[in-house]
Amino acid sequence: MISQKQIPAKRICLRSLDPGELGQLAVSFGEPVYRGSQLARWIYSENIFSWDQIKNLPKTFLTRLREETVLSNLEFVDSSGSKDTSIKFLFRTKDGHFLETVLIRKNDRNTVCLSTQLGCKMSCSFCASSKEGFIRNLETSEIVCQLAEVRHRIEEPVHNLVYMGMGEPLENFDAVMKSIEIFNADWGYAIGARHITVSTVGLAPGIEKFSEKKLRQVRLSISIHSPFDKVRNEIVPVNRKYPLKTLIGTLKNERRKFGREYTFEYTLLKGVNDRDEDAEELSKLAKDAGAKVNLIAYNPIEDAPFERPELAQMRKFRQILDQHHVRNTLRISSGLDINAACGQLRLHREREVRL
Ligand code: SF4
Repeated sequence: MISQKQIPAKRICLRSLDPGELGQLAVSFGEPVYRGSQLARWIYSENIFSWDQIKNLPKTFLTRLREETVLSNLEFVDSSGSKDTSIKFLFRTKDGHFLETVLIRKNDRNTVCLSTQLGCKMSCSFCASSKEGFIRNLETSEIVCQLAEVRHRIEEPVHNLVYMGMGEPLENFDAVMKSIEIFNADWGYAIGARHITVSTVGLAPGIEKFSEKKLRQVRLSISIHSPFDKVRNEIVPVNRKYPLKTLIGTLKNERRKFGREYTFEYTLLKGVNDRDEDAEELSKLAKDAGAKVNLIAYNPIEDAPFERPELAQMRKFRQILDQHHVRNTLRISSGLDINAACGQLRLHREREVRL
């Protein structure tokens, strides 16, 4: 909870507060506590970006809010992409850093890919985000404002949220959990938990903490990228700290508490992790952990020594997973390059194909 003393001292962004905290803010401004629920409705359900849109709050309260709080702490800078496919939004934070949020349109569904950190410490070798180093965790409001800003600009509903943008979400645990609460709550954006996916590179303690939260319908996606420690150590360096045995053991232990199937993300890299034996071993790990597999055809980025496998090899890889009855999809980017990347998931317009 925020303290009343903190609130007037700086312009707090309201899009990090639940109705209780908004009520506390109202009380500190001399208003009754129920103003918190009224404010929550305007901020989240109505997704307002101007104080003038609020109809049922006293003028004196609105003046204090206008002077001492903000409705967004991201500044929109630019967007690129196509109205029909994917749009990349560029925002500036209040301390002058840039962050990207991607809207992916597919089958009339809008998915927003959220960033959770400025930069990333994980240093995955095929990822553009890691090349910039790590600056800081995003605040809850900076995560929530990504959805608010995108929804405001496209003037359409958002159906799915994926925490697959820049950063490792479980490294910014508390802010990510609070943002999930705001996205999922009836008083918030009311996005169903089964439409929210958190992606991790495989931080075993973070996965334990996440399952303790018992967010039973929220999906957890794990970036595997190789079923062998020797290769995974190189492309996903955090594997040296939490090797596959530890990671798969944690997933198995937490499965009951987690309560649903995991997803393994697997970026196919030519000659690195696309061999038949990789598919065989990946099948074993997926069955052991209780996971389906999302294969992603690698999209080249500058300064990374990887290539996309041949189509025939990707097809064979899938066949092996099929033979082991491991549910899988293959995502191949096409067309528009929106030039963003975490684990290749937000690089390009995507389509899932059955080869
Ligand atoms: S793939 Fe994700 S976890 Fe790995 S370096 Fe990139 S942003 Fe970080």
